[in-house]
Amino acid sequence: MAAAGASGAPPAPLRRDTPLRFLRGVGPQRAEKLAAAGLVTAGDLLYHLPLRYEDRRRVVAPGAVDAPGIWTVRGRLAELRLVRTRRRGFVIVRGRVVDERGALAATWFNQPYLLQRFADGDQVLLHGPVRPTEGLFHEMVNPSVSGGDAASGRIVPVYPAAAGLGPAVIARLVEQALGTLANDPPREHLPAELRRRYALPTLASAFDELHRPGAGADLAALESRASAAHHRLIYEELLELQLELAELRAREIKLEKRHRYRIDDETRAVARRILPFRLTAAQKRVVREIVDDLRDPKPMLRLLQGDVGSGKTIVAALALLIAVESGLQGAFMAPTELLAEQHFGNLRRLLGERCRLGLFTSSSGDAESRRALAAGEIDIAIGTHALIQEGLEFHALALAVIDEQHRFGVAQRRLLQGKGERPDVLVMTATPIPRSLALTFYGDLEVSVLDELPPGREPIATEVVPSSRRREVYQRLRAELDSGAQAYVVVPLIEESEEVAAASLELLGAKLREFLAGHPSALLHGRLPAAERDTVMRAFAAGELRVLIATTVIEVGVDVPNATWMVIESAERFGLAQLHQLRGRVGRGRRASRCVAIHGRLSESAERRLEIFATARDGFAVAEADLALRGPGDLLGTRQSGLPRLRVADLVAHRDWVERARADARELLPRLDEPELAPLASRVRARLRDRYESFAGG
Ligand code: ADP
Ligand code: MG
Repeated sequence: MAAAGASGAPPAPLRRDTPLRFLRGVGPQRAEKLAAAGLVTAGDLLYHLPLRYEDRRRVVAPGAVDAPGIWTVRGRLAELRLVRTRRRGFVIVRGRVVDERGALAATWFNQPYLLQRFADGDQVLLHGPVRPTEGLFHEMVNPSVSGGDAASGRIVPVYPAAAGLGPAVIARLVEQALGTLANDPPREHLPAELRRRYALPTLASAFDELHRPGAGADLAALESRASAAHHRLIYEELLELQLELAELRAREIKLEKRHRYRIDDETRAVARRILPFRLTAAQKRVVREIVDDLRDPKPMLRLLQGDVGSGKTIVAALALLIAVESGLQGAFMAPTELLAEQHFGNLRRLLGERCRLGLFTSSSGDAESRRALAAGEIDIAIGTHALIQEGLEFHALALAVIDEQHRFGVAQRRLLQGKGERPDVLVMTATPIPRSLALTFYGDLEVSVLDELPPGREPIATEVVPSSRRREVYQRLRAELDSGAQAYVVVPLIEESEEVAAASLELLGAKLREFLAGHPSALLHGRLPAAERDTVMRAFAAGELRVLIATTVIEVGVDVPNATWMVIESAERFGLAQLHQLRGRVGRGRRASRCVAIHGRLSESAERRLEIFATARDGFAVAEADLALRGPGDLLGTRQSGLPRLRVADLVAHRDWVERARADARELLPRLDEPELAPLASRVRARLRDRYESFAGG
């Protein structure tokens, strides 16, 4: 069998789509490893950008090195030798580089192979740091060594290792891939108009500049990934992504909605009447944004981000009121039964006089309420997943609200949308993420932000204490309970096993109950049957239970204003965002609240996390810090793996380009059929087909 790539001769010339196994130095095993690292074709290698650059533009004689710094020196090797050390497994190679006029000492740590590759008398180019030594003379430490004829007088890229291959091997592969720039130049997708707008080079010259910077290159810009060539790749990547998202959105809201709202003075008067407090400026702004969407003939698709306690519910209530005042129906879906009931209670208090409400969960919503909903005798259906079950029908669903949307998937949103004819959709989340990330992750939604808390909130005093002070913490807790407070004690769920978590909860619970004797308490964890969980929560909300000892099941949305104390056990095990969500369960009433995080032994990153937790007050600050600590993938959690892999762009570092790309994408979208934009359009549509096929028609 003529096994491709088994023989030495690569098919020439190399093309962009040539598999890497046809490159010199790549066998089947390496090819497999490279593929696992996302490098499959020669074209992929072009996107494997240098990590840094060695400036070898100025090459000097060994004797000319007269100060510490980075130097490039040409000369002959002399006195190259292995120096034994006492430490096992630690080797030093020493030598000198000399010419007729001078010499410079060099030392390499743990690079014994240099002795195989080089010998005294070899002409070489050394590049690296020069340090002053104890003696009079300077010394080069761990310089890179190349043959004397190699790469001098230019800027040399240094690549990040990949697939277990070192920088030098990768450099040789990229070098080969660069041959495609002449043989098979990359297709230009970015229209000239956009390249001009931001003074960006063509794709081919960007690759050239990045991998083979000219003698006049701006090294600082290259190293900080801020060169025009970098921007070119970053912008293209982000623009394609934003076009994809814009196209997706356009498909979803393509058809005009059938329903129309009545928004006039009377509606406004009714809205004013039901408001129990003055809206914050942020709430007013968001209500305006939503009202504009409702007026628009296209269906609304909006995400409302707001920190815990920022007052999202009233915003949703006002939108629902508008629907009902217009003779239409609304739906409000929450992730848990408890939350659904809580919203039902709140909305009944707010809207009960104007609207007929129905609760639909696994335990409520009987045949009669279903009939009433289908007949239009219920105006707003509040509930859990029960709302999207088959058989549940609305009469005229115009507005669907989804609370804590990070608990739901796109599929569930679609199901709820399907209960009406192109209803308006408002999704809400209390897990705010930085805007640049939201524009990408939720790119097919409009984004509104509540960035202000209602007035009069006491900040939640947060303490981080070591477990050696646990007893003191619980003594203080007992005193608080004695004076009428309610409290949460949160214990981490040890991921391996709910059972272990439940057991450790039981153990802690037993001890705590003894210590807090006289204050009724209960345990709450995921292994309890749902009905039992609800009973416990209800008793806590009603004040019959004073202490809730729980795993993170209390994380979402629960609102018990009298609960003003929270102790978090083994706080080092929680992520930052989760700690913040948990803390949001207190600080909901008029009394000052406190959250005490008790921790065991801390890793460096856990220490950093808890430090931020103690000082960062709002969810956006927490999210920014979390993003810096963990990166976007982790921040958004495994549940939401929809974030695309970016090759060059970084949603945080390049947030300006995210904004530009988003604006440009929306401007370009209606013109995608123009010939200038055809290459871009076909690429975006092909990617859309790949990525979102699973949702099509859903
Ligand atoms: P979240 O955004 O976490 O869902 P909620 O809607 O539950 O927040 O609101 C938290 C609390 O703040 C509720 O008790 C609510 O009544 C109250 N609230 C909301 N907006 C205001 C406001 N403008 N002024 C005073 N209290 C408000
Ligand atoms: Mg809420």
